[in-house]
Amino acid sequence: MRTTTGADRAETREELSRTAYDLLVIGGGILGTSVTWMAAQAGLRVAMVDAGDFAGATSSASSKLVHGGLRYLQTGNVRLVAENHRERRALAADIAPHLVKPLTFLVPIYKGGPHGAAKLGAGVFLYSALSVFGDGMGKVITPHQAMARVPALRSAGLRAAAVYGDHQMNDSRVAVMTVRAAVDAGAVVLNHAEVVGLRKTGGTVAGTVTGADLRDRLDGTEFGVSARLVLNATGPWVDHLRRMEDPDAAPSIRLSKGAHLVLRRHEPWKAALTTPIDKYRVSFAIPWEDHLLLGTTDEAYEGDPAAVSATDADIAQILDEAGHAVRDSQLRREDITYAFAGLRVLPGGPGQVAAAKRETVVTRGSGGMLSVAGGKWTTYRHIGKHVLDTLAHLPGQPLGDDLADILPAVPLPGLASPDAVAMRLWTDRDPGARMDPLVARHLATHYGSIAFDLARLIRDEPALGERIHPDGPDIWAQAVYARDSEWAATVDDVVRRRTTLTVRGLDTQDVRARIQELLG
Ligand SMILES: Cc1cc2nc3c(=O)[nH]c(=O)nc-3n(C[C@H](O)[C@H](O)[C@H](O)COP(=O)(O)OP(=O)(O)OC[C@H]3O[C@@H](n4cnc5c(N)ncnc54)[C@H](O)[C@@H]3O)c2cc1C
Repeated sequence: MRTTTGADRAETREELSRTAYDLLVIGGGILGTSVTWMAAQAGLRVAMVDAGDFAGATSSASSKLVHGGLRYLQTGNVRLVAENHRERRALAADIAPHLVKPLTFLVPIYKGGPHGAAKLGAGVFLYSALSVFGDGMGKVITPHQAMARVPALRSAGLRAAAVYGDHQMNDSRVAVMTVRAAVDAGAVVLNHAEVVGLRKTGGTVAGTVTGADLRDRLDGTEFGVSARLVLNATGPWVDHLRRMEDPDAAPSIRLSKGAHLVLRRHEPWKAALTTPIDKYRVSFAIPWEDHLLLGTTDEAYEGDPAAVSATDADIAQILDEAGHAVRDSQLRREDITYAFAGLRVLPGGPGQVAAAKRETVVTRGSGGMLSVAGGKWTTYRHIGKHVLDTLAHLPGQPLGDDLADILPAVPLPGLASPDAVAMRLWTDRDPGARMDPLVARHLATHYGSIAFDLARLIRDEPALGERIHPDGPDIWAQAVYARDSEWAATVDDVVRRRTTLTVRGLDTQDVRARIQELLG
């Protein structure tokens, strides 16, 4: 596989410049990556570029849930929940069982809370029925049973808890594995390459979009890509790109900011909490990467998408709302290891952001560029297929004749049982030289069978088996692998999205300097 060194980036730019593509996808978040993967599977010549890192924006700022969306039952959207459940279960069972893991959720029911036990009990029952009880039956349990699963749960006023099942993931890692799947299927990809203009044939204003002008953000090189069709999958920037196509394009979306916190965890959490804050909003407290993930806020955002961040006010709100159900001892500011924010893309139009439906917006501009935004991480394959289907039947520019049927369930690279991989990583080495079981488990659940490639790196160079920071399970082989096989080109690419150093608060100056050295 091509690496991310300067020479290899130059080679990729050269390939992008000289090839006539069927499809250019602008934006390497999970939506752009999904369409790229599907299009490559269907036999199209497809290129994907991202201004920053793959999944560097919204797609690594989610709540990390692969879920049916219990809240959608509130708005009566039973069909959407059933569809989300189907995708959730397909990801967990067939596509990425190495990366997506089951998680039990409790909805604590307090005296005076916005919903009663009967309503929530019926809600979780219906929720589980919509996934054909594949994760057990939604039910109501006693406060005592709830506290046995989450000892940090507040007990005062607790009447009961409703229980249901969903899944969780490390979104950055699933995204990188999906980019890899797209490349394995034949796509050409480049991160840190910003589209600065669109190429048109037949006139600069009314012409047809047939490519883009780009600037490599790492070394400033300018280059271009030509394609029969261009897809704008730039998430919060979708209208920015639409205005490159047509300066008069009306806004198609609104943005809503959602912030999260990651905190060190002091007690075992055998389940996550979904705590109702009011009629529509919930606060999540989720055991994730040995830490606690708290969120999220939901507030209209009108600034520059690149500037979105978790503010002090967001942090105060998240801790305050988590405090409805979580004891203070688990919510200390000094335990925060990371805070981040992302932008939800909502269909344009009136209404409160918290009540708006999280739907996908697909529009076609005057230059023929298709724009897609919104939707859920959970349904990314479904959205990718839907967009490909739309591209196949575009009036005037059908790609349909050139499309092969794609298989219904192609797994992500590394598909394997994480338990089996962890066991093999541990037993493959002689006693005395064995991999730390925690490291083995970490590699198995973030790489699947690709962890064996990392083990080979360690065999050749044992120092790569050492931890990058003594307090976390990430090892040097991951940083080397990120550089050589996962397109990591900056320190943040490595510490924030290929490993878990940043979320654990372990990306110290020393760690960053050593990784910078490794990247050259
Ligand atoms: C707070 C929050 C929590 C969420 N939680 C969940 C959850 O738990 N489960 C779930 O299923 N979904 C969740 N979602 C939804 C999910 O995260 C999004 O639907 C998904 O990540 C959107 O992906 P995207 O590819 O459209 O956008 P993005 O990931 O934002 O990708 C767009 C990309 O376009 C690139 N780009 C922009 N301009 C240019 C340019 N000029 N040239 C080249 N590239 C460009 C950007 O760099 C960016 O990487 C959540 C969303 C938010 C905001």
